[in-house]
Amino acid sequence: MKAIVIHQHGSPEVLKFEDAPVPAIRANEVLVRVRACALNHLDLWVRRGLPNVAIPLPHIPGSDISGEIAEIGADVTTVRAGQKVVLAPGVSCGKCAACIAGLDNRCRKFSNLGYIIDGGDAEFVRCPEVNCLPYPENLSFEEAASVPLVFQTAWHMLITRAQLQPGEDVLILGAGSGVGSAAIQIAAMFGARIIATAGNEAKLEKARQLGAHHLVNHKTQKISDEVRRITGKKGVEVVIEHVGTATWDQSIASLAPAGRLVTCGATTGYDAKIDLRFLFSRQLSLLGSYMGTKAELSSVMKLVASGHLRPVLDRTFPLAECADAHRYLEAGEQFGKVVLVV
Ligand code: ZN
Repeated sequence: MKAIVIHQHGSPEVLKFEDAPVPAIRANEVLVRVRACALNHLDLWVRRGLPNVAIPLPHIPGSDISGEIAEIGADVTTVRAGQKVVLAPGVSCGKCAACIAGLDNRCRKFSNLGYIIDGGDAEFVRCPEVNCLPYPENLSFEEAASVPLVFQTAWHMLITRAQLQPGEDVLILGAGSGVGSAAIQIAAMFGARIIATAGNEAKLEKARQLGAHHLVNHKTQKISDEVRRITGKKGVEVVIEHVGTATWDQSIASLAPAGRLVTCGATTGYDAKIDLRFLFSRQLSLLGSYMGTKAELSSVMKLVASGHLRPVLDRTFPLAECADAHRYLEAGEQFGKVVLVV
C-alpha cells in the first residue's frame, strides 16, 4: 500500500510517501480502507519528536480516520466488510479499572492511532473493533474525518472537566483551530455566552457564524482587557486554553472569581507562571484535559449526525502531499480542519 512513513523525526521533509506493508489484523481488529485522514497538532509533535516519548520508527502518523471496512478479524461481530466507518482515535487496554469505568483516556496504555501506534496516513490502517463508530451519512469522508479528535477534546474540556453551565461566559482561544471551532459550537449548544479570539477579521467572522457572541482580534487587542470590557469587569467563568505560553497570562487575567481554566495543549510553548495569590484569593481552578472517552465521542457523533454540530473543513490535500499539508497547518492560516484525501 502507499503510506506516509517517518523514518526519523524532523521537519516536513521526513514525511516520505512510499510503499509499506498492509497491516496484518488480529482477531479483535478490523482493517480499514482509509478514504480521509485529518491532521491535528499532534501530527506535528509526532513528526518533530517529543522529549520522553519514544515513538517506534518507522511510523505512520494520522489520528482522525474515515473509510470503509476492508476485512474483519475472526472475533469481530459488530461490523462487517464494506461498511463505512469513522474511527475513534483512542486505543486503550480495555481491561484496567479506568477502561472498565469508561474512562479510557485515563488508561495507562492509552494512545491514539497515529501517535505511538501506526495511523491513517495510508491506504489501510488496522484498529480494534471497538473503535468503529457508526458513519454519519450526512457527511462526506473528508467531513467525517474532521470530527473525532477535536470534537471529543472540546467536549471533554467544556462539559466533563469545566462543567459548563447555561448562561455562563466562556472565552475560547484560537477560534480558527480545530478545537476552537468545535468548542464554539458545543458552548453555543449549551447556552453559554461566547467570546472567541482569532488573529484576523476573516477568522473572526467565521467564528461569529459558528455561534460566537463577541470577537477579539488577538493581534490588535489585548484579550484580558476586552474580556473585562465585555463582561463588565467580571471576567469569564470558563477559559478554553490550548495556546500555552503566548496567551497564558491573559487567560488567567480573564477569569472571573471561581473561574475554571481548562487546557488541552501548548502550541506556543510549555512554560507558564501562576501568581499563587490570585489562585487562592480568587478561588480559581486550573484543569488539565487529555483527549476524551469513547462514550463522549459517541455523544458527539450523534449530535453530528443530527446536524446539531458540524465539522469545519478548511481544505484538503492528496495523501502524497502530506508534507505540504504539515507546512500549511504550521503556518496557522487555516480555519478548521486540514484533511488528507487517500
Ligand atoms: Zn486500560
